[in-house]
Amino acid sequence: MLYRRLGRSGLKISALSFGAWVTFGKQIGDPVARDLMHAAYDAGVNFFDNAETYADGQAERVMGTILKASGWRRSSYLVSSKAYFGWEEDKPNQTGLSRKHLVEACHDALRRLQVDYLDLYYCHRPDPEVPIAETAHAMHDLIVQGKVLYWGTSEWSAAQIGEAQRLCTERHLHPPVVEQPQYNLLHRSRVEKEYASLYRTPTGLGTTIWSPLASGLLTGKYTAGVPADSRLGDPSLAWLRDLLLKDPSTPRKLAAVGALAEIARQLGTSLPRLAVAWCLANPNVSSVILGASRVAQLQENLGALDLVPQLTPELLAQIDRISAPVAA
Ligand code: NDP
Repeated sequence: MLYRRLGRSGLKISALSFGAWVTFGKQIGDPVARDLMHAAYDAGVNFFDNAETYADGQAERVMGTILKASGWRRSSYLVSSKAYFGWEEDKPNQTGLSRKHLVEACHDALRRLQVDYLDLYYCHRPDPEVPIAETAHAMHDLIVQGKVLYWGTSEWSAAQIGEAQRLCTERHLHPPVVEQPQYNLLHRSRVEKEYASLYRTPTGLGTTIWSPLASGLLTGKYTAGVPADSRLGDPSLAWLRDLLLKDPSTPRKLAAVGALAEIARQLGTSLPRLAVAWCLANPNVSSVILGASRVAQLQENLGALDLVPQLTPELLAQIDRISAPVAA
């Protein structure tokens, strides 16, 4: 495993990490979740990603039970939660980034994950109804109380992150040090262009990127239809299938996936490995959060680490010519 600094913070994070979205407490049984976490940990993964909203809190409960039973030293792994979408009903203050919800969601996550502190705590989306100062003060207080070690954002604009960092510097608060954006061969602009200036500031910005395989599109498995035993074949995820497969840009994206699969074939590797390795090749990516419904998928994707040295500037330029014209 390769370990990278999380931005300019002192935290060391595995370049490949593992997340629970739509799988834990939902798509897969708890024994499979356990096998996946153990396979990841045994391969050197030290970061497990979660959120209050994943399976309405159940993903955190499943992960917490596995962590508790694992016998792993708390110092050997990082675990996160994210707040914003809520997990209960939809009453006022049960969602969002107010001090009230951030503190309550943190306490709920600590209880479900059965840990004393969260290593990373993310604001899962920006909240237009809460001043950034209120959010920043609440996150700072949770850090001072020892309930959170580092805080960050997910899918905030560069302007919003910059504003939070500026305000924290001015007020001597712990600043957000990490952002969790989508990043893959079909979705690039925010990580590569919008955030470019933030990586170079004194506070800096680590990134833990999500959906490196675009929910599986970048495995090639959706090129000839939707397999029943896949994420987009799950009836409860029809909204995601429609989002990804009914967009007018989908045919062009699937054609690009075919061309990328051909490059992988010529390299003697698989498309998922190539797609994950391409994310790792970006030095501004601190960690690529993998998702998997089976251990074999995880093992395959972990093999991407060995491929990175083969991604020469010429090969990256060739990949760019296919990906850049279709990527968001
Ligand atoms: P991916 O884009 O890598 O999709 C993972 C899914 O693709 C798997 O569950 C599996 O689905 C399929 N897959 C993975 N590897 C293979 C393979 N080798 N061959 C065939 N199919 C494969 O990642 P996720 O979308 O799961 O995102 C990763 C993590 O990022 C999440 O768990 C979560 O922690 C985080 N995240 C954060 C978000 C945010 O807003 N901050 C949003 C979304 C995710 P299947 O077998 O069911 O088809």
